[in-house]
Amino acid sequence: MTRYADFHQRSITDREGFWTEQAALVDWHRPFNQVCDYSQPPMARWFVGGEINLCHNAVDRHLAARADQNALIWVSTETDEERVYSFRELHAEVQRMAAVLNELGVRKGDRVLIYMPMIPEAAFAMLACVRIGAIHSVVFGGFASGSLANRIDDAVPRVIVSADAGSRGGKVIPYKPLLDEAIRLAEHKPSRVLIVDRGLAPASRVEGRDEDYATCRQRHLDAQVPCTWVDATHPSYTLYTSGTTGKPKGVQRDTGGYAVALAASMKHIYQGNAGETYFSTSDIGWVVGHSYIIYGPLIAGMATLMYEGLPVRPDAGIWWQLVEKYKVTVMFTAPTAVRVLKKHDPAHLTAHDLSSLRSLFLAGEPLDEPTARWIADAIGKPVIDNYWQTETGWPILSIANGVEPAAGKFGSPGMAMYGYDVKLLDENTGAELTGANQKGVIAIEGPLPPGCMQTVWRDDARFVNTYWKTVPGRLVYSTFDWGVRDEEGYYYILGRTDDVINVAGHRLGTREIEEAISGHAAVAEVAVVGVADAVKGQVALAFVVLKDPALAGTKEGAAGLEADVMKTVDQQLGSLARPARVRFVTALPKTRSGKLLRRAIQAVCERRDPGDLTTMEDPTALQQIRDQLDVA
Ligand code: ATP
Ligand code: MG
Repeated sequence: MTRYADFHQRSITDREGFWTEQAALVDWHRPFNQVCDYSQPPMARWFVGGEINLCHNAVDRHLAARADQNALIWVSTETDEERVYSFRELHAEVQRMAAVLNELGVRKGDRVLIYMPMIPEAAFAMLACVRIGAIHSVVFGGFASGSLANRIDDAVPRVIVSADAGSRGGKVIPYKPLLDEAIRLAEHKPSRVLIVDRGLAPASRVEGRDEDYATCRQRHLDAQVPCTWVDATHPSYTLYTSGTTGKPKGVQRDTGGYAVALAASMKHIYQGNAGETYFSTSDIGWVVGHSYIIYGPLIAGMATLMYEGLPVRPDAGIWWQLVEKYKVTVMFTAPTAVRVLKKHDPAHLTAHDLSSLRSLFLAGEPLDEPTARWIADAIGKPVIDNYWQTETGWPILSIANGVEPAAGKFGSPGMAMYGYDVKLLDENTGAELTGANQKGVIAIEGPLPPGCMQTVWRDDARFVNTYWKTVPGRLVYSTFDWGVRDEEGYYYILGRTDDVINVAGHRLGTREIEEAISGHAAVAEVAVVGVADAVKGQVALAFVVLKDPALAGTKEGAAGLEADVMKTVDQQLGSLARPARVRFVTALPKTRSGKLLRRAIQAVCERRDPGDLTTMEDPTALQQIRDQLDVA
């Protein structure tokens, strides 16, 4: 067995040899003649000269060995439906969708915007796009018209694929009126709109523009649409970041590098094998959905389980019932979902046979130790945190158990993954911090490995200026996250660079304080923000969601708990880190993808305009923060 340290080292020092080997994990129509062209930093071009197709690698190439094995398993607890497609059936459906897109005028390089709920047709549409060389741009279903309109104007799609409605917690959300309004607001008008009618909500039709998918599909039941071979550097899709810190950025992904990166990650990190089932609970509107609901598992020849519904409906056992039923071996979810489950009886999890499951991966947000322990105990399986970004497409930090098994450490998303030359940099000087336990900005030395963003869609200057120009006199990619590395190479994320608090000249990560507070037995969730203070420069404010909100129901109760929480911070981090105030709320403002909107909380606390809130889930949560500011 290779030592992971050697594996990683080689990926940096022998980039060509390393990635040539990884590239053999996928099918090439024409071999590449250059592994990486980095002649114009920071623009990296991977597998130059190669021709490939993502859909071929995800679907067609598996027909020979596993045509009748499961490829796509769809379960909706919203509409009580369950559908299973073999690779052969998926192949047929994708070709039907591709033929319909062709008929609507979609050609190689055209953009197709996909605004869909979690239904199989969404997967068909994504795969059909890359099959014919069209560039998809998936926008999270249910986003408001304004957000959708901005994305329409940025992507300039020829066609939009959508549905009559989505459903959440049993409540139907009509998409078509949102879409019609978005198109009205947008400057760019797509020439055609393709609607999958689920029969959930009445949808009006614009004559000459809107088409019904079922009707179109009927015309192409026997469609045979061959894969369009594209250059490895041809864009496969664009996708917007979650918008946690401001205006979402349109991430552009290539084709060849992405295929190779995902295939390698399935082997070395997730350890998913052909013929098994992968279950990622994310949404196709997010990067995890792109990489690990659609492309990663399918490229690996696995069945992917696509789930529409909540984790706690009909009850908190539903995911685990699906793990048992479909013998899921690899599962991927987010800390925010686990915190939801944590409010329920762990018996819901243990009631099911989870023996097929090897490990549970979590990403998207800091994973606090109590949450990690709770889920690890409840399922009795390794829980592996992994850290990455929409921009990178696959993990920057994790544990590569497929290379060399290593124990995880609570609170750490692991070590630098192969291909990533991760550095910790001093924020002010840009100097590299090589010692253990020094706090700095997590940065990546170029070139970014295969699979990472090529550029910001239609805006190279924004790509270079936003990500690569944060350190004076040097080109290096900033993650905008702040972290620390221990002597064994494990990283700890301390927060976003703009979440760092400066209290009387001492720098503290909001994440460190949150971690301490979440260790308090009564706390379910917490957000800490730095707020301008005339005397100390900044002070920390903590907003806490209690497991039992009644505990803070009285003035005395709240005051007692506040003192108690402060004591916990004093004991763990010292009084310097103690929040100036601890306030109790029943919900925290989050993005639709479940991330804390600290930026918005901070703005409200400083009585500033919270800015772009289009990706926010529940506006009342921000109002609660506002109300709490006036509580003495
Ligand atoms: P935007 O860039 O638009 O502000 P965003 O950064 O939330 O939004 P994503 O790309 O979805 O958009 O999220 C990536 C970020 O999520 C990381 O930069 C990091 O801050 C956080 N993150 C992801 N995984 C982890 C993890 N395992 N531990 C800690 N933080 C994580
Ligand atoms: Mg980001």
